[in-house]
Amino acid sequence: MKYKNLTNDIQNHLKIYNSLTGKKEFFKPIHNNKYVGIYVCGPTVYNYLHIGNCRTFISFDIVYRYLKHLGYKVRYVRNITDVGHLENEKDNGEDKICKKSRIEGIEPMEIVQKYTIHFHKLLNILNILPPNIEPTATGHIIEQIDIIKKLISNKLAYEINGSVYFDLNQYCKLYSYGILSKNKIKKLFNQKISFSEEKRSYQDFSLWKRAHYNHIMKWNSPWGEGFPGWHIECTTMSTKYLGEYFDIHGGGIDLKFPHHECEIAQAIGAYNNNFVRYWMHTNMLTLNGKKMSKSTNNFLYLDDVINKFKLSPSILRFFILKTHYRNILNFSYEDFLNAKKGFYKIMKSINILNNINSEITKENNIFNVKNWIYDCYKSINDDFNIPLLITHLFKATHFINSFYIKNMDKYHIFLFKKYMNYFVFDILGLQYKEKNTSKEDSDKLKKLIKKLIEIRIEARKQKNWILSDRIRKELYSIGISLNDEKLF
Ligand code: AMP
Ligand code: ZN
Repeated sequence: MKYKNLTNDIQNHLKIYNSLTGKKEFFKPIHNNKYVGIYVCGPTVYNYLHIGNCRTFISFDIVYRYLKHLGYKVRYVRNITDVGHLENEKDNGEDKICKKSRIEGIEPMEIVQKYTIHFHKLLNILNILPPNIEPTATGHIIEQIDIIKKLISNKLAYEINGSVYFDLNQYCKLYSYGILSKNKIKKLFNQKISFSEEKRSYQDFSLWKRAHYNHIMKWNSPWGEGFPGWHIECTTMSTKYLGEYFDIHGGGIDLKFPHHECEIAQAIGAYNNNFVRYWMHTNMLTLNGKKMSKSTNNFLYLDDVINKFKLSPSILRFFILKTHYRNILNFSYEDFLNAKKGFYKIMKSINILNNINSEITKENNIFNVKNWIYDCYKSINDDFNIPLLITHLFKATHFINSFYIKNMDKYHIFLFKKYMNYFVFDILGLQYKEKNTSKEDSDKLKKLIKKLIEIRIEARKQKNWILSDRIRKELYSIGISLNDEKLF
């Protein structure tokens, strides 16, 4: 990759670690080298999200932003799970949303609405771009039933007492199960765990669950009233919007097994196609060395780390991005406050850079901007190595803060600004708002404007139209318009 052919070259050099093959592979979209389809498992909306959840959505926001930056037409689908996610991996747990509705004493759909609104707000605060399609499980019941029917007719699922289960023994005779999580199927089948009597095998998972008479979230189906299982919604909605074989499927590493493995089995069983080309998994955010999780009461909200200290949400984003998405990241206030320092260092220097107006035309630079741009892209192209990109951004800030930046020629300043802004704002999605001016500063500003208006009135009295016009135009350019009264 050379700077000369940057735009073509960067597209062809993106490598993604594919969890399916366990290797970094060059990214080649399935369709036409132009369109990219991504599906990311969204939240189950029964709770406020913690910052661990945010890590996963920030990581995929970078993937989405970068693919768009490279010029791909991206269709990003991220679902909302609003039914069917049971309390435990076995098939006899309670639906998480129904349970919460019982606890809060409101309708399940009120729970869904309440936490979906919160989820959207949170992601917006963190400058996470919305997906192109955000389908819900309850909005795709008919489609889920259709796939279940297909699996039954392919003899890969069976109905019993109004519930339908995926037949893993049968599937394993035709395909291999465990290709993603590398679970040895024999080991799985040998597990001696008690299970719902009606299933043929412990590993069989539910596609459709019969609903009890007092269950609110239920729909008619060929097997009676019930509701879909959790895994089937993602197979259904991803293939509906992205096709039977699509480019990227992502989610947290905790979803690899059984959720993603079951998605694969359902898709292959229904369509006999490959399903997904690149699987991407983000690692966990931990607290006190343990996975951040609601169920173990080991979590922090955005509020705990941002609002409490009156910090910009971008600092949490920056803190998260400083660790590679495939590594575990442990939250500590010490590291978080260090990230704050780094964040402001970058913002301060980008501010200086954006305000430099070089008049020098002769190239005489000790900082090689083109190599720097090349190194930045090289880092992102290496399976989204954002920590390395951040190291290059710090190199840039050292130079910007040095005396030598003043000697940089016009053209290279232009390049430097352009790419620094691309990396920091467009790709990393950081945001920076200058602090509000103090009361004292704003009083001074008001006095200054008043003085300018007085000078202008004086100028008009003296028929100095050039000066009075200039003051009017200058004030107008900063949003202050003057209504002249006739003087004579
Ligand atoms: P859930 O609503 O529990 O399905 O989680 C929504 C998303 O957040 C999933 O993609 C999970 O993999 C991810 N997630 C959950 N806990 C963590 C964590 N501690 N760190 C990073 N991602 C997480
Ligand atoms: Zn999913």
